[in-house]
Amino acid sequence: MHETELVLATGNPGKREQFEALLAGLHVRLHGLDDSVPECDEPFGTFVENALAKARHASRHTGKPALADDSGLCVRALDGAPGVRSARFAPPAPGVTALPRAEQDARNNELLLKRLQGEGERRAHFVCVLVALRDADDPEPLVAHGWLHGHIAAHPAGDGGFGYDPLFVLPQQGLTLAQIEPDLRNRISHRARAAGQMAQLLQAFWGVAPTAQHQSI
Ligand code: IMP
Repeated sequence: MHETELVLATGNPGKREQFEALLAGLHVRLHGLDDSVPECDEPFGTFVENALAKARHASRHTGKPALADDSGLCVRALDGAPGVRSARFAPPAPGVTALPRAEQDARNNELLLKRLQGEGERRAHFVCVLVALRDADDPEPLVAHGWLHGHIAAHPAGDGGFGYDPLFVLPQQGLTLAQIEPDLRNRISHRARAAGQMAQLLQAFWGVAPTAQHQSI
């Protein structure tokens, strides 16, 4: 069976494995980006523009169809912040360019709690936008969205996950994303939902075939 080749616009092998698992129901082969491809700027104010920029960049540098994601946390009481700035919400100390991920995450969470001090409206959602392009000039990008709704806790809880997980409470479980089983998390995440939608678009518009075990995607 023919496999559609897609470059995933990330050099992060963990992310590639995650999307490989999420798109396992399709005959696609995901490649990561190697070090020869320069980092792509993400200067835009919307997730879709940043994902599109990353997909174009990956496709232009590899000559292959590309898939890119952009995601973040949007908090109602903060008018959607941290939004596209989720990864670097807390500014680094003067003279520091980039912090190790765990440290940056901890500072982001601290700042989020500070901004929400005394705030009763705690609703928030994660969003993931996925964009697929046949080539860098494809006039018809496929765009998929996934959301996960919850609220921001008063204090962090749990040691699993990453980013804002210890503060993000799932209303049905009454637990944070950092407290639930990784399996459940991977099934309900904004990334999983966006990937499910993208799988349908890839089948409908690019004719990508489902694998035998997943004919009902
Ligand atoms: P990325 O676009 O997937 O790299 O996500 C950007 C930033 O959003 C991350 O650095 C995290 O701060 C935040 N984020 C996105 N998805 C999640 C999640 O599932 N849990 C916690 N934080 C997340």
